[in-house]
Amino acid sequence: MEKNCPEFFNIVLEDISSPTEAVVNGRPTILAGTNNYLGLTCNSECIRASCLAAEKEGTGTTGSRMANGTFAGHIALERELSDFYGRTHTIVFSTGYLANLAILSTAVGPGEVILLDADCHASIYDGCRLGGAEVIRFRHNDVLDLEKRLQRLAKRDTNVLVVVEGIYSMMGDKAPLADIVAVKRKHGAYLVVDEAHSLGVLGETGRGLTEEAGVEDQVDFIVGTFSKSLGAIGGFCTSNHPGLELIRYASRPYIFTASLSPSTVASTRTALGIIRTQPQLRQQLWANANVLHARIKGLGYAVGPVPSPIIAVHYRNVEEAFAMWNGLLQRGIYVNMVLPPATPGGGALLRCSLSAAHSRDQIERIGEAFAALIGVHS
Ligand code: PMP
Repeated sequence: MEKNCPEFFNIVLEDISSPTEAVVNGRPTILAGTNNYLGLTCNSECIRASCLAAEKEGTGTTGSRMANGTFAGHIALERELSDFYGRTHTIVFSTGYLANLAILSTAVGPGEVILLDADCHASIYDGCRLGGAEVIRFRHNDVLDLEKRLQRLAKRDTNVLVVVEGIYSMMGDKAPLADIVAVKRKHGAYLVVDEAHSLGVLGETGRGLTEEAGVEDQVDFIVGTFSKSLGAIGGFCTSNHPGLELIRYASRPYIFTASLSPSTVASTRTALGIIRTQPQLRQQLWANANVLHARIKGLGYAVGPVPSPIIAVHYRNVEEAFAMWNGLLQRGIYVNMVLPPATPGGGALLRCSLSAAHSRDQIERIGEAFAALIGVHS
């Protein structure tokens, strides 16, 4: 069984020397597919906070938030996230996946409707499945299609929850949020924005697409994760809606799993402080994204039209994508290989995600590897 598994599912980072370098298959490799947008996994302040918390409070909580697993650090992190977003309520979950499971299965129920962008992440689909609301998809980033569906639902006089992402995880494109907000307001719907890939990446102070688009007062729930720009693991939902607090009593993904370890809470709190005080990291990330996007696009690869820290190269067939992925790896560059059903529109993707921690030389080397592989077929 194991022998038949494709290589790209079995990559091992054998020795990690920085947020952007590891040994893979015995070879020093530049990591260009990690979601480590600000490079904070190896930040010395985050590591120190994490070690101190483990020494003081132990390696784990050994329980659910609802039982013995709520420590002062969880409450402090929830308070700091509320303060960051300027909202009244925040709940922290053990992963971003669980945050989506909890919100989408609990915020609406039978007789109500979730309208989700077709390209939403698997955790959003799974959350919908766990709950009892009717689920309807609209075409990716198509506000007219969303409006058409909202108009049809108007007759039903029921709660409708629209779900979109800030930056879409696979293609790296943004939601047209100002237009989505206008439509959801017109129809009295609620809106969830999953900022997993945009927290720390977009907005003047890093609060994501909601901040960048200037629509924070119109977004009802923001979901996010600690596993990308914050460099740890965990998830959250923040809102001014008092009903959010009920999730603590009603949601299985909150109740029936152990809470975040003290070290994770401590490094996440420190990383949040860094996002708030060091905008230069975000600027560096975008500088890297702009340079690599221009280089790869200039070489003629099928990438999206606008720069993003996620650069997806689209292939119609898996063999061609695999040959390219393998060629990059042979040249010491790791990117993600993405296959259906995770690829919007079918085919295969090579997905690069950039980091503020990539040096200009590393960006050059990634670009050179793409240049050397032009026209590669299996
Ligand atoms: N939402 C989106 C949009 C994601 O891309 C991901 C993970 N890639 C998640 C949620 C889940 O986050 P986590 O991996 O932290 O559980």
